[in-house]
Amino acid sequence: MTSTDAAAPTSNASFDSLDPATGEVVGTHPITGEQEVRDAVERARREATWWESLGFTGRKKQLALWRGVIARRMPELADLTTAETGKPTGDALLEISLGVDHLHWAAAHAGKVLGRRSVSPGLLMVNQAASVGYRPLGVIGVIGPWNYPVFTPLGSIAYALAAGNAVVFKPSEYTPGVGRWLADTFLEAVGRPVLQVVTGYGETGSALCRAGVDKVAFTGSTATGKRVMAACAETLTPVVIEAGGKDALLVDSDADLTEAAEAALWGACGNAGQTCAGVERVYVHERVYDAFLTEIVDQARQLRSGPGEQVGPITMPKQMDVIRRHIDDALAGGGRALVGGPDAVGERYVQPTVLVDVPEDSSTQQEETFGPTVTVAKVRDMDEAVRLANGTRYALGSTVFSAKRGMEIAERLRAGMTAINSVISFAGIPTLPFGGVGDSGFGRIHGADGLREFTYPHAIARQRFKPAMALTTFARTEKSEQQLMKVVGALYGRAGKDKS
Ligand code: NAD
Repeated sequence: MTSTDAAAPTSNASFDSLDPATGEVVGTHPITGEQEVRDAVERARREATWWESLGFTGRKKQLALWRGVIARRMPELADLTTAETGKPTGDALLEISLGVDHLHWAAAHAGKVLGRRSVSPGLLMVNQAASVGYRPLGVIGVIGPWNYPVFTPLGSIAYALAAGNAVVFKPSEYTPGVGRWLADTFLEAVGRPVLQVVTGYGETGSALCRAGVDKVAFTGSTATGKRVMAACAETLTPVVIEAGGKDALLVDSDADLTEAAEAALWGACGNAGQTCAGVERVYVHERVYDAFLTEIVDQARQLRSGPGEQVGPITMPKQMDVIRRHIDDALAGGGRALVGGPDAVGERYVQPTVLVDVPEDSSTQQEETFGPTVTVAKVRDMDEAVRLANGTRYALGSTVFSAKRGMEIAERLRAGMTAINSVISFAGIPTLPFGGVGDSGFGRIHGADGLREFTYPHAIARQRFKPAMALTTFARTEKSEQQLMKVVGALYGRAGKDKS
């Protein structure tokens, strides 16, 4: 059986994925219907039993086989990623490399993080041996976006599989070929469809939420995240929501300005700005504001968007309207474009755009733009920078450039992740959890938290010997109750006693 068979729809409905650089058809894929999605989940449930029975060591071996196939065929996957998203091949290779590294880490550390471990039973229950183990939930539905079609879903898929779950993956309708490739290579490496793919539009994703999965890991926009959560609420299906961001980069007066400008520009325009944890706003200490502007403007003028350039096309055509609106709103509110501007928005490409003097309450500063644009604002001090950075409903990533006070500033930011003196570095560190707060969602992928996200804790208390005080029995005596009072009094009654 191939994974294509695994999710074969009964209807003939299909859709095309297109190359955003040219509009050419890259591939044609089935629109998986509701019943077929249910069938895939049922099949996954059977696979989950086998997969769980392999244990951490067995799964580690199997996942290493898959990892090997991906690593060996990276150029092929990179070409497909480029064809479906438009991103430069180098960027595709980077996201695949990071994804493979996460797959390795998750498989290698699942046993240590999730395996049963002893915990203290406490003094009152000293006769017990207490332990906790993290058990797989069963079948995880993963719904992915198109902007990092390998790295982002792997953040859920790798961790869910390593934790012992089977996965049914619904890739974005813009990148179904990449999703299919991942499931096909998994089948090739492991020989069983523990990872399946169902392709289609939002309806297929919605069907997956209602198909009896044990958890949904959703990555996409905040608006869709709310719909996913509403659908999952019907069956009390838990969710992870990895949604959008409006990340800020803060530049302190003692920062290395060349590096800060380089990071701001790459964070804003890398992947054509279509990065959930990309840089959309920059707040610069007034003492270095002018010098920083000179740096970023100089660097941004060297950068071009177009075929073969470092900045690729906008993958989703309707995003063009959002980018245009945000630039227009910035200018209508008194902002100025130092690089780019309204004319930067073409048919498929957007030229890098640097905006200043943009009102904080404008859509440009408050909503996710998802394009190669960045705003730069002057602040009196880092207190003001922190206040403004924390001033949107989103809270995903963040960046601080400071020679001395990086940690101090970072700890005051409302964000799931912060990079100090580099940008988006947290995403490539497998031990660090990744996720947001507020409109950026909740739950975590990556790291030990990312493994636990796809499990439930199973607590076991094993009686080692009969207790001195028998408390959990109808044969409990007044004497044992008195003893309990004495013990609790001796243990905890002294706190605050001297003050009374
Ligand atoms: P999207 O919300 O349009 O779509 C995401 C996925 O949800 C797609 O597979 C889509 O088909 C599916 N979907 C649509 N309607 C659905 C429904 N009613 N029920 C279930 N599934 C449904 O997002 P997108 O445009 O593909 O991705 C871009 C967004 O993703 C941006 O906001 C970006 O910030 C965010 N993102 C977040 C992270 C993160 O880790 N926080 C990572 C990457 C992207």
